[in-house]
Amino acid sequence: MEVEDHKEEHFTVAVRVRPFITREIESAAKVGWELPGPTSIKETNGERMFIYDNVFDQSTSTQILYEEICEKLVWKSLEGYNGCIFCYGQTGSGKTFTMQGSRKDSPGIVPLSIDSIFTYIQQTPDKSFLLRCSYLEVYNECVNDLLNPSLLNLQIQEDKQSGVKVVGATETVCTSISQVNSLLYLGETHKQIASTNFNMRSSRSHTIFRMIIESKSRSEADNCLNVATLNLIDLAGSEGANVHGPTASAHRTREMSFINKSLLTLSTVIMRLSDRTSNTPIPYRDSKLTRLLQPSLQGESKVVIICNISPSLDSYEESLSTLKFAQRAK
Ligand code: ADP
Ligand code: MG
Repeated sequence: MEVEDHKEEHFTVAVRVRPFITREIESAAKVGWELPGPTSIKETNGERMFIYDNVFDQSTSTQILYEEICEKLVWKSLEGYNGCIFCYGQTGSGKTFTMQGSRKDSPGIVPLSIDSIFTYIQQTPDKSFLLRCSYLEVYNECVNDLLNPSLLNLQIQEDKQSGVKVVGATETVCTSISQVNSLLYLGETHKQIASTNFNMRSSRSHTIFRMIIESKSRSEADNCLNVATLNLIDLAGSEGANVHGPTASAHRTREMSFINKSLLTLSTVIMRLSDRTSNTPIPYRDSKLTRLLQPSLQGESKVVIICNISPSLDSYEESLSTLKFAQRAK
């Protein structure tokens, strides 16, 4: 399996419009967006149009989306380049469907990436690989270990080898797909136990599944060790980034301000990184999320941002705000 060698972009920004869901069909929701071409999206009731690297319509499967914009990044990570794949969007827009998939018939980016990784390893007998997996959550600016629920508020430290390290986070060596799957399952279980209301909690935390991939040639002559980190991130609902209800509780306001801060910092970091002419400092340290991901966002890393939106006119304002976020990353 060879990775094409032409000039590759640092960032790929895509929009995915999901199909109408039952709730919207029952309320006879109207269509808010049209897709004039494979890279454009336009308001149905207006003139505004946005262009991205890819715009995927409701009939596109996650498998196709994965092959078009994620697979190459995953292969690159097996060759030693750090990578991040993000899903951004309001709660209910399809982030978890895209990242994890639905159990039944539509695998998400996480299982598809794991498949690619093990296929690649199998087809590359001249190299030996070591795969270590972590599953982290950033909630209210605390990094928690989803593989060990007693590990809360982990510290982030500078590290000579990887740049940044989450002190004490569980890193489990995996040698088979089924082993990775049981870790994912374990993480999901812990996420549910940790929260009184699972859906609320999951919409307010960032979930990071990370694989550290070490590879080494089996030939004696070449003893260079490649280490790369691949991060698959299901972000907190972006409605936190603009909704400020006057009746919000103190707890809710606190959550919101943290979501605001981390999504805003992410957006600023990505914007500054994609503007190579600017010398403005990049504020990685303004949020745990960007600090944690710094080595995988900068330098020769590959980054894919998938902005999920609902097709419904009822979600127009939230979708517009997501499309603007995506625009800033261009
Ligand atoms: P989020 O994680 O952004 O809150 P979800 O991924 O949970 O949103 O999606 C909300 C609902 O929409 C779920 O019932 C999910 O199964 C459905 N859904 C999302 N995207 C798609 C899609 N591309 N095709 C079919 N159903 C989808
Ligand atoms: Mg979700």
